[in-house]
Amino acid sequence: MSTSREPGRTSGESAEKAQATRTAALSIAGLDPSGGAGIIADLRTFEALGVYGMAVVTSVTYQSTIGVLGRYDLAPDVVSSQLDALFSDTPPAAVKTGMLGRADTIAAVARALEEHEDWPVVVDPVMQSSDGKPLLAVGGLEAMLADLMPRATLVMPNVAELEALCGFELFDVSDLRTGAYWLARQGARGVLVTGWRLEEEGTDYAADLFFDGADFEVFKTPWVEGLRVHGTGCVMSAAVTAHLARGTDLRGAVELGARAVSLAIEGAVAVGKGIPCANPGAISGS
Ligand code: PLP
Repeated sequence: MSTSREPGRTSGESAEKAQATRTAALSIAGLDPSGGAGIIADLRTFEALGVYGMAVVTSVTYQSTIGVLGRYDLAPDVVSSQLDALFSDTPPAAVKTGMLGRADTIAAVARALEEHEDWPVVVDPVMQSSDGKPLLAVGGLEAMLADLMPRATLVMPNVAELEALCGFELFDVSDLRTGAYWLARQGARGVLVTGWRLEEEGTDYAADLFFDGADFEVFKTPWVEGLRVHGTGCVMSAAVTAHLARGTDLRGAVELGARAVSLAIEGAVAVGKGIPCANPGAISGS
């Protein structure tokens, strides 16, 4: 006997449940087969925050928790075809971009989003893995600035990514503000500089600097020395995207995203021989 339920054979209450709509968010990012980063981490984060997750793959990476061995970037028209199919049917309430791999893929993604000006777009400007492997081809940085920044509701670089985007070194908080301001001038509505170390009255914090185009604000959690966790940028940007999809305003989504990634780091799981992975399961309901 088959236990599978066929479409059209549900009845009464279960039919209503089957038709219930759910807020959807979309991740346009790379595949990390270990599940620690990329679209798998994004989908798990969306789900943990009660948002239906969709994903468009840009690149297949070969990696484990030990490190990145290589990548195969999909052709831009393969990415466009995925987006076209999805957008003709299932409009997401918010979108995030992660690893895009190539300059022409960035241009294709920006083109596809052009027609949907009202969708919030969170850009995680992924450039390299934490073990130093390139995840963005030559020319990608320029494409991010020219094509994606004008479409970004929020761009979330870490300090190294912000330095690469701005083209100047950042030494202190005042520099980070200058960098965030510069990035906003490229068209991003909001900027969040993630995960830098802030020392205040003898205590170290992991801090995130938020610039909404007018004001700066710092969100902070205690700094944990020597802590290395895979996939934190992905989980944080997916959490911000999920909260935007649920209708939270930008500042609120950033604050909730920062809280979510702290929980995912606290609950990090050692699934392999390498570094632990951020665990979206630990943020459920936050
Ligand atoms: N692999 C993919 C597909 C990613 O999207 C990312 C980060 O965004 C990484 C790897 C890098 O993760 P980590 O910074 O933890 O090395």
